Amino acid sequence: MFLRSLTIKGFKSFADPVTIDLSPGVSVIVGPNGSGKSNIADAIAWVLGAQGPKTVRSSKMDDVIFAGAGNRGPLGRAEVSIVIDNSDHGVELDLSELTISRTLFRSGESEYSLNGNPCRLIDLQDLLSDAGVGRQQHVIISQGQLDLILNAKSEERREAVEEAAGIAKFKKRRERTERRLAAMEGDLLRAGDLVREVKRQIRPLTQQAAKAKRQLELRDRTTLLKRYIAGSELRALESVAEAIGKERVDDERSNSTP
Ligand code: ATP
Repeated sequence: MFLRSLTIKGFKSFADPVTIDLSPGVSVIVGPNGSGKSNIADAIAWVLGAQGPKTVRSSKMDDVIFAGAGNRGPLGRAEVSIVIDNSDHGVELDLSELTISRTLFRSGESEYSLNGNPCRLIDLQDLLSDAGVGRQQHVIISQGQLDLILNAKSEERREAVEEAAGIAKFKKRRERTERRLAAMEGDLLRAGDLVREVKRQIRPLTQQAAKAKRQLELRDRTTLLKRYIAGSELRALESVAEAIGKERVDDERSNSTP
């Protein structure tokens, strides 16, 4: 597994697309001061997921986008791609070549891709650290950093040794899992509070539901009784009307008899 080529577009001093072929045999890039050698190292660190702007010698992340020089105006995005030769299948994928790209737009939008397919940085990092990138070890030491390592505090040196021994990956995973667990514990606490609150409300709600049911039953019963009473009254009125009618017929008959 080795870095086969690097393509830089709009990254730092590289306004025009530049592809650097790093086939076996190429181990050194030389150039006059300020010609962009360190920018090439920055590009490799950046495409592999460098996060803090300082790791690529910038004060904010969008400083990596070509800011303009001479009569060239600034560009809107920086894009770096590396091609890794994977014919030994160091990365356990059925691919003999991996193209990893990172793009950053001035709007702050950023994306990673693997062989042209958008992907998350975390998946790329897991994939690469499983293959030994960052373990066996790809270490980018910029100018002045050697001193930094030699003069590092024991804790910082320990981090470098852990990275080289491949422990850092597991530490990072553990930290991630611990963070997720802590978040989950928070969620569980909130869910417990909710359950308690709902349980508190269930008793009065059950009483209210029973009352509402009883009220409905009583209303139905009242309607039935009202209908019954109205029916009885109607029947009584009909009897009275019938009696009056009969009386009237009898009266008419007796009046018409000479
Ligand atoms: P040295 O050997 O002196 O360290 P170098 O070859 O490593 O130099 P770099 O530090 O890689 O050079 O490149 C520095 C150049 O890159 C500077 O001229 C700087 O102006 C230019 N540069 C850095 N960032 C940008 C940017 N965002 N846009 C345009 N040019 C940039």
